[in-house]
Amino acid sequence: MRILIANDDGIYSPGIAALAKVAKKFGEVRVVAPDVEQSSMGHAVTHSRPLTYKKSPIEFPGIEAYRVNGTPADCVALGTHLWSNTDVVLSGINMGPNLGNGMWHSGTLAAAKQAVLLGMKGIALSTPVGNTEPDFEALAPYVEETLALLLEKKELALYNVNFPSEPRGLKWTRQSVRLYDGTIIPGTDPMGRKHYWFTVTPLEPAEEGTDRWAVENGFVSITPLRLDLTNEMELQKLSNEHPL
Ligand code: MN
Repeated sequence: MRILIANDDGIYSPGIAALAKVAKKFGEVRVVAPDVEQSSMGHAVTHSRPLTYKKSPIEFPGIEAYRVNGTPADCVALGTHLWSNTDVVLSGINMGPNLGNGMWHSGTLAAAKQAVLLGMKGIALSTPVGNTEPDFEALAPYVEETLALLLEKKELALYNVNFPSEPRGLKWTRQSVRLYDGTIIPGTDPMGRKHYWFTVTPLEPAEEGTDRWAVENGFVSITPLRLDLTNEMELQKLSNEHPL
């Protein structure tokens, strides 16, 4: 199995090294990641300037690794173009969760989505970061268990996986869409000028069965996603009310 690994934290992130190490147990691995951090870039692609594909300045033992001057989705599009017959794209492990409505901004998830658009399986993997960096050694057995589960399935699919800092099991979940944690916080720069930070604020506990609920309760959250955004109920309702 050919496994391409991307992320949005950039080629230097310890999360991508941790993921590559586990992924090696499942097949042939290649790393293609942004040369600088591209978090919260969503599914942006670069179309107004050329992209470059250069050897990674840091070593991934036994793995070919490249850096791209573009977005996470660029890395997947270019990486799979230059490495034919890629079977699956893994994105992460992101330093920070990608849960609920936060998925809309996620560059980590976008890399996995790009894989599915191109006809490959895509799996996004993320973990929260507290005051200390994630203990990727401790997470490794759960990453391996998750990959064994999801890589075994033959069908084309998109999965969003989030690991709590100390997992106690795995759960199938749905996306929590009840609340949104994005907030604008005003501040002042050293010159006294007003500026603004886009940040996230803690939310009230999530509904049982959702991705946020699972991670809050110490479970690895695995959410199967789809690319079709059509609101089926609304489509049905409109078609009945206003036949066109
Ligand atoms: Mn990130």
